[in-house]
Amino acid sequence: MTPLPIPLPATRAAATARLAAFLPRAGMTYAARRNEDLPGHPHVSGLAPYIRHRLLTEAEAIDATLRAHPNGAEKFLAELWWRTYWKGWLELRPGIWSAYRQGLAEAMNRLQVEAGLRQQWEAACKGETGIDGFDHWAQELAATGYLHNHARMWFASIWIFTLRLPWELGADFFLRHLIDGDPASNTLSWRWVGGLHTPGKTYAATPDNIAKNTGGRFRPTGLARDCAPLRMSPHPAPRPAPEGEVPSPGLPTALLLHEEDLAGDGFPHLPEGTPLLFLLTTARRSGLAVNPLVHAFVDDAVTDTARLHGLPDAPRFTDESLVALADHLAAQGTRQLVTPYAPIGPTAAALQRLAPLLDDRGIHLARLIRDHDAQAWPHATHGFFRFREAVMG
Ligand SMILES: Cc1cc2nc3c(=O)[nH]c(=O)nc-3n(C[C@H](O)[C@H](O)[C@H](O)COP(=O)(O)OP(=O)(O)OC[C@H]3O[C@@H](n4cnc5c(N)ncnc54)[C@H](O)[C@@H]3O)c2cc1C
Repeated sequence: MTPLPIPLPATRAAATARLAAFLPRAGMTYAARRNEDLPGHPHVSGLAPYIRHRLLTEAEAIDATLRAHPNGAEKFLAELWWRTYWKGWLELRPGIWSAYRQGLAEAMNRLQVEAGLRQQWEAACKGETGIDGFDHWAQELAATGYLHNHARMWFASIWIFTLRLPWELGADFFLRHLIDGDPASNTLSWRWVGGLHTPGKTYAATPDNIAKNTGGRFRPTGLARDCAPLRMSPHPAPRPAPEGEVPSPGLPTALLLHEEDLAGDGFPHLPEGTPLLFLLTTARRSGLAVNPLVHAFVDDAVTDTARLHGLPDAPRFTDESLVALADHLAAQGTRQLVTPYAPIGPTAAALQRLAPLLDDRGIHLARLIRDHDAQAWPHATHGFFRFREAVMG
């Protein structure tokens, strides 16, 4: 694939063009070479920033892949389903997200009082540890907003087992720099590397594997050999998958789009001329400053979405202006606000706080779950392979 340009064009047109350009390589080539982290990332799609914000939906990417490869592309399809699996898994266990936020707050407090830890953390974030590869990935991430999947795995493994830094600080470092930073995929992948997802199983980065898959660019020394799992509590029992709300017909309705779902495919199908507004929570991905590349991508994606809806001046609100959002709707005579369901994360939390403000003003909030999620999430009860059987057959 052509390398991801900086800044990355955040438009629906760029997303669909990238998918179309990648599809010829989504079959055998992807299966054989997707693990190679080479300059320009030629063997992976680079679609995550688009799919994460649903400028392009998972369902669209899966359908297009099936059409282009009626007999194959199993590996690429499975990777696309991983995103849905992680979202569903977290959606059934919201306590895992709260525990991450709690663990992060505790680790941030430790940084205030443990000077040694703070220095190590700063060196890791700046890419100044002296560990071959690791320093490059830290700087690549901050400079581009993207890392190859294998680099993410090596980086997380070295962070946890060699540098012995709290995993929550690493997950936060990713979440504030990755343009595709996603509460479910990120938190659960870090937990998986640290042995908190599959009991007894961790991911160990090794010099040979790194050298082999980076074309010999990196061969770090001194990596931890003992990668014993972090101490884990048992997973909470899964709750039932959410069902979302049903909009009432006939009410004066507005559409709220947000960065979990910019409705690249036009969802939800409301009459033309339905007032549109946006909710942005990008700054809440971390308690620290989020990379400007992430903000720029989301802002541009919102601009593109508004333009595609023919409403370039659609107002934007943040989770700090929820009262203003509710007042705006009340002043317009809105009685119902329809929005795509936001999976666990800052947007869902903001919608949770918005609901009573709307209620006070006689406005009904309808969070609509896409068929793709409604059908798949209930299967995210155990491991990926059981999920995959259920959704891919
Ligand atoms: C520690 C760690 C943290 C991660 N954090 C994130 C994150 O915050 N946001 C995020 O979107 N992904 C995350 N991933 C998953 C994965 O690394 C990225 O989705 C992938 O690298 C994106 O690049 P791509 O689009 O070129 O992937 P491709 O290899 O081209 O894959 C195609 C698509 O499949 C999906 N996908 C592929 N691998 C995974 C995976 N392991 N989990 C979930 N979806 C996947 C993505 O939508 C991706 O765009 C993380 C992985 C690890 C190991």
